[in-house]
Amino acid sequence: MVHETHTFLAETTGMAGFEAILWERGPDMLQRCAGDASPMGGALDVAAARHWDVIPSRYGAAMPSGTVTDDILETWWAEVRSDLDVALAGGGLDGVLLILHGAMVFASHADGEGEVLRRVRGHLHERLGTAGDLIPIAADLDLHANTSDVMAANASVLTAYRKNPHTDAREAGMRAAQFLQRLMSSGEATHVVRLAPPVIYSPKGTGTDTEPMISLQRAARRLEAEHPEFLEVCVLGGFAYADIDCVGVSFLATTTGEPSAARDSLRPLAAEALRRCDEGNPLDPPTDDVMRQVLASGQQGPIGLIEPSDNIGGGTPGDGTGILEAFLRFGVDNAVVILNDPEAAKACHARSVGDRLRLPVGGKVDRFHGATITLEVKLEKLTDGRFDLENERSHLASLIGRHVNMGPSAVVRAGGIRILLTTHKTPPMDLGQLRSQGIVPEELYIVGIKAAVSHKAAYDPVLTASYYVDTPGLGSSDLRRFPYKHVRHPVRPLDD
Ligand SMILES: [Zn+2]
Repeated sequence: MVHETHTFLAETTGMAGFEAILWERGPDMLQRCAGDASPMGGALDVAAARHWDVIPSRYGAAMPSGTVTDDILETWWAEVRSDLDVALAGGGLDGVLLILHGAMVFASHADGEGEVLRRVRGHLHERLGTAGDLIPIAADLDLHANTSDVMAANASVLTAYRKNPHTDAREAGMRAAQFLQRLMSSGEATHVVRLAPPVIYSPKGTGTDTEPMISLQRAARRLEAEHPEFLEVCVLGGFAYADIDCVGVSFLATTTGEPSAARDSLRPLAAEALRRCDEGNPLDPPTDDVMRQVLASGQQGPIGLIEPSDNIGGGTPGDGTGILEAFLRFGVDNAVVILNDPEAAKACHARSVGDRLRLPVGGKVDRFHGATITLEVKLEKLTDGRFDLENERSHLASLIGRHVNMGPSAVVRAGGIRILLTTHKTPPMDLGQLRSQGIVPEELYIVGIKAAVSHKAAYDPVLTASYYVDTPGLGSSDLRRFPYKHVRHPVRPLDD
C-alpha cells in the first residue's frame, strides 16, 4: 500500500485515485510489476531468485494527494486477511512482505502504515498465538515516511530508500526481500528501534545531494558498517504536509542485538538532524526577483523555474498558475508550463488541432494555487497522454512502474508560451512527459517545473541553470505558513 498523504488538501483520496494509478490483485500484481524499477519489482526478483512460493495479495498506489478514505484500508485488509488465512491453511506461512510508503494517513487512522502493520501482526498472533509473533514481517519505506513507534513495534525489519530523487526504490524493495529471506532461514529475532528528533524538514530540504541529508545518510552507512548486529539503518526525511503527531524526521535501526543499545547509537544522528533544522528548511525567493535576475543574465536555455509550492509529487493539485502568470507578465518566449486541468484538456479534445479557442486554465481545484487564467490559445497537439519512462530509474518508477498515463492531454500555445494540459496529474520526474507531446526539452528557453527535488534526475542533466521560486501553493517550503493542529510540541521550525 503506497501513498503519501497531504492532509492540508481539501480533497480526499478514494478508490478512483488508486484505480487510476495501481490497484492490482493476485497474479495481475505480479505481471504488472515484474522486472520494473519499483520496490515491488525488486522484491519479486529476489523472490524468484530464492524460489519463493509467492502468494500475491493486493497492491495499491495512488498519486500523493489528500487524506485517504477508510474504505481503501478496509478493502485492502479484508483481502489481505483472507489471503493470510488461505496461506496459513495451506502449506503454512514463512514470512510477510509489505511494500509501503510510510506517510499514509487514513481518515480514521493518522498513522496509516502503523495501522497496516498492527493489523497484519495482530492477525498472525490471533491465529497462531506466540508462534504467529515469530513469523517475520518485512517492509520497505519511502525516504519521506513519517514513521511511528507502532510501525517499529509491529515490523521485523524495515528498509528505506536512501536517495531523493528516489532512483533506488527498487533496491529498498530488494533489501526488504533479502532480509526477509535471512530471517525466514535463520529464525533470528530482531527489533526495529526508532528515534525521532523534534524537527520537520520541508520536501526541498530532503534532497540527498544536499545537506543535511548527505551527512545523515553517510552517518547511517557508517553505523551499518560498524555494527554487525544492524541489518539496516534508515534515515527518513519525513513528509511535512501531514498534520499528525509523528510527522517529521526520524531514524530506524533493525537490530539482532539490544534495542536500547541500538537506540543509543541513533542519538548522534537525531541530534545532528535537529541542529541542522535551517538547512532542512531552505526558503524560496519571490518569483519576480528571480524572473528579473534570469532575464537580465542573458543566460541561454533551457532554464528551469522550480516551484515547490505546487510540487505534484508532494500532493498538490498541479494546476497552480504562479509561473504561467509570471511568464505572461514578463513576456517570455519559447517557454513551457505543464498544468493538470482535466476540464481544459477535455475542451481541447472537443476541437481540432490548429483551432483557436478561448480557454480558462489552472487554479481550479482550490483557492491556494493562484487564479484561473483565461487565454486565447492555438491548439497544437492532442494525445491520449500515455508514455513510457525515458529513464527507467526515474523517480516516477518508484511510484508507478514504467508506464505512465496522463489521460487525454493537449498542447496549446499562447504567444511564446506552450502549455501542456493533462487529465491525470503527473509529477515532472521524466522527460518522456514532454517529448511524448512533441516538446523537446533541450530546445526550450525556460520551463516551469512543479517539484521540489524529485525532478532533478530528469531535468538537471539538460538544464543550463535552475532557480527555485516562491509561488502560491500548499507545497510551500515555509512550514510556518501551515495551520498544524496535531503535531507534537515543541517542534522545529514551527516553534522557533
Ligand atoms: Zn518520497
